[in-house]
Amino acid sequence: MASDSPPDSLPSVWHNLETEKALRLLQSDRQTGLTAQQVQERLQRYGLNELEERGGRSNWAILVDQFKNIMLLMLIAVAIISAIIDIRSALAEGVTPVPKDAISIFAIVILNGALGYIQESRAEKALAALKQLASPKVRVIRDSRTMDIDSKELVPGDLMLLEAGVQVSADGRLLESSNLQVREAALTGEAHAANKRAEIELPDDTQLGDRINLVYQGTEVIQGRGTVLVTGTGMKTELGRIAELLQSVESEPTPLQQRMTQLGNVLVSGSLALVALVVIGGLLRAGSWEPLEDLLEVSLSMAVAVVPEGLPAVITVTLALGTQRMVRRHALIRRLPAVETLGSVTNICSDKTGTLTQNKMVVQSLHTVDASLRVTGEGYDPTGEFYHDNEVASPQDRPDLKALLLACIICNDSILQKENGVWTILGDPTEGALLVVASKAGLDRHYWTEHLPRAAEFPFSSERKRMSVIVKDEGRGAKDELASFIPGAESLVLFCKGSPELVLERCQQIRVGGQVQPLTEAHRNQVLQTNNNLASRGLRVLGFAYKLLNQVPAEGSDETTEQELVWLGLVDMLDAPRPEVRDAVAKCRTAGIRPIMITGDHQLTAQAIAEDLGIAKPGDRVLTGRELERLDAAGLEQEIDHVSVYARVAPEHKLRIVQALQRQGKVVAMTGDGVNDAPALKQADIGIAMGITGTDVSKEASDMVLLDDNFATIVAATEEGRVVYTNIRRFIKYILGSNIGEVLTIAASPILLPMGGVPLTPLQILWMNLVTDGLPALALAVEPAEPNVMNRPPHDPEENIFARGLGLYMVRIGIILAILAIALMVWSYNYSQQSGDPERWKTMVFTTLCLAQMGHAMAIRSNSRLTIELNPFSNPFILMAVGLTTILQLLLVYVEPLRNFFGTHYLSPFELAVCIGFSSLMFVWVELEKLFIRLFLSRRMG
Ligand code: ATP
Repeated sequence: MASDSPPDSLPSVWHNLETEKALRLLQSDRQTGLTAQQVQERLQRYGLNELEERGGRSNWAILVDQFKNIMLLMLIAVAIISAIIDIRSALAEGVTPVPKDAISIFAIVILNGALGYIQESRAEKALAALKQLASPKVRVIRDSRTMDIDSKELVPGDLMLLEAGVQVSADGRLLESSNLQVREAALTGEAHAANKRAEIELPDDTQLGDRINLVYQGTEVIQGRGTVLVTGTGMKTELGRIAELLQSVESEPTPLQQRMTQLGNVLVSGSLALVALVVIGGLLRAGSWEPLEDLLEVSLSMAVAVVPEGLPAVITVTLALGTQRMVRRHALIRRLPAVETLGSVTNICSDKTGTLTQNKMVVQSLHTVDASLRVTGEGYDPTGEFYHDNEVASPQDRPDLKALLLACIICNDSILQKENGVWTILGDPTEGALLVVASKAGLDRHYWTEHLPRAAEFPFSSERKRMSVIVKDEGRGAKDELASFIPGAESLVLFCKGSPELVLERCQQIRVGGQVQPLTEAHRNQVLQTNNNLASRGLRVLGFAYKLLNQVPAEGSDETTEQELVWLGLVDMLDAPRPEVRDAVAKCRTAGIRPIMITGDHQLTAQAIAEDLGIAKPGDRVLTGRELERLDAAGLEQEIDHVSVYARVAPEHKLRIVQALQRQGKVVAMTGDGVNDAPALKQADIGIAMGITGTDVSKEASDMVLLDDNFATIVAATEEGRVVYTNIRRFIKYILGSNIGEVLTIAASPILLPMGGVPLTPLQILWMNLVTDGLPALALAVEPAEPNVMNRPPHDPEENIFARGLGLYMVRIGIILAILAIALMVWSYNYSQQSGDPERWKTMVFTTLCLAQMGHAMAIRSNSRLTIELNPFSNPFILMAVGLTTILQLLLVYVEPLRNFFGTHYLSPFELAVCIGFSSLMFVWVELEKLFIRLFLSRRMG
């Protein structure tokens, strides 16, 4: 008996072997595939089919990136200068120099770098994990059964089935192929698809790009079908050998992050200018070098105060958290910038089938030219009755209906199976529904595929909107039976199904009462009328025809072969709208987002469903693919605002629609599932692929994947996008407002209190910027959606982050904060001079600034609602952050070692109460602003 496992060393080339030899070498079987036991053994032996992840940034690169940040570089410069000052003055005083500020700034720089590193590498890992979630499935034959498995479970010897849109998951030798075209750009750089052929053996020295009987991991099937014997997996594939080509996790900076980097640059240059101004101005005024040290101290504090050190990390974390919330709502983000762009989407262009509808097709009736039969039954369970005019009828009694049902099972690539007691479909649900109805009528698919093997096929594509299968009676005993379905059938029969209008155009004859007759104009009109009636009820309708052939047609001869067909009839099926979509569409409307349906289906079917869902109103214009072709770019742009339904479109039309919308300044989200949808997905601002039914090629081209294929998920993701953007704006206001307040306070001190020195040391400022502002800012980043988040139009994607009053708010709040701090500073300075400790006022200013920001954090949670109107526990993190930060601040004042380290002073309960009193005014101010705006607005509106 032959051993069950392949030899230890497999050949390195396979193209020169005939298929039988390859099968023998790998101990596999063309019909049954591997057994479960063989698979287990091979998984042990060859490992999982995974490429070692070389993409993404290395840990080292992430760490180095942290210190490329210009703000950190400036802090390092500040540390060096302050070290020099400290050492000099210590030497002058004759004590041991301890540059405390410099050491602590360095510590903070390192801490901040480390925190940034942890956050970013976690974000990177999260993205990589998301990518894993989207990892492709592969269809294989194992133990004689067709099944879908994770691509990483493939082993050498597996039989892998390929179809259009699939990304090839391993290297292999083709056993069978039909019109197979594969794009190998990832491997050979060749953009054109290569034609692949199974039956060929090639000379030993054939180059990689010419090995047309092999397929390679990472390449994409553009057209056709094939069965492949897997010869290499994991790193033992051609792709595995060229490590640089491995896809990396895309974590490019988002537009906002880029803008923030720019802002960082501006702030740093601004603060340097400020330093220069203060130092030079001060020196000129004094006319001597004497005040240099004091001036440097003030200006260094100001430089540190201007820069929002904590901001970049908070933004990264917010975006990463956003992707996690989206994945919980079934939207998988593949590119980080999408999180942000989602918030400004103005148009969502969606496919119909599966996204707006359930993609659970159930055949409702069958129609030949002289009879219509209604079918009962639900789901994919193949039991049900046929009715003709309310009487139970048998389709088997009617030869034309029998032929129609035979076409349903022959012209079909799906599999109907019972799994754990439930009938399910493997493959296209449209085709699955046809198998179900044929089975209800008692036709045995197994019998027919056994007796009439496939000789050739012209596969379905969204452009062709039809498919044909040519079967051959090879004398396996079904001849008479076949003739009872298709009179005159000798050996080769072509069955065609597809969009009724298109199939009918190709017919010249028709079956009536079991006989073939010429197709008259009256017949044509009758068929089209029936089609329209069915479609306008929202049903999906397919047309069927056949043709007798003398010889197997050549590959690619579909245009000439699919002519002069004999019309059989129509089959209609119900694909109910998804119930949640109606609400999602209504939500879009209030959010100023226009939903648009773009479908390959019939215009009347599309219109009926669009009206049902609220995407279109009765009487709205529907634009068909053909009409769209007649419009030039300008013409389309004129129409685009009035059309919400596009029907019978091909994928290239989708690209034109996106471009036309974008030329009008719209931000477009577009769904797609097929291989040819990739250009439109790339062009769209948010390309959305289907997680369940989408092809690998479309997923690869997308920014976001819908894990449940559901339109409502797009709307949910848009909502999350808006929440993320609002929260980012919120904490930017919060953080930068505080920076402005600090700078103004420091700048005021030498003017108002010339003899007092600087109220805040660089270390204390860093403490505020990173800890007492940083923690509440992180909590603000997870603020839940405000109720009106989907009640307002999308924001302009081009808008400046400071637009819509944000810049003004920051400056205003900064000034208020400074006024409070300065008022307290002046009062407490005088007060401290009389108390025992003349330096205490500095700690009072420091504490007031910190505590004022606590009140600010509580109040800024909502732009319009008062804090008492908010549920305090809807964001418990705020309470926690405020509580924790307040405790930390008090520790700095009341724990001696910390006091020594941070240079703070003890405050009496009275002094602390004064600080709390002053700082709470900040909260009061923000609340009063909200009240004022509310009153003002209501008066204006009223
Ligand atoms: P959507 O674009 O909204 O997903 P769709 O599924 O109808 O809608 P396509 O898959 O491009 O779009 O199908 C276009 C048309 O092709 C269908 O309306 C139908 O007439 C026909 N069709 C769909 N599936 C098949 C199939 N498996 N075989 C033959 N014809 C088909």
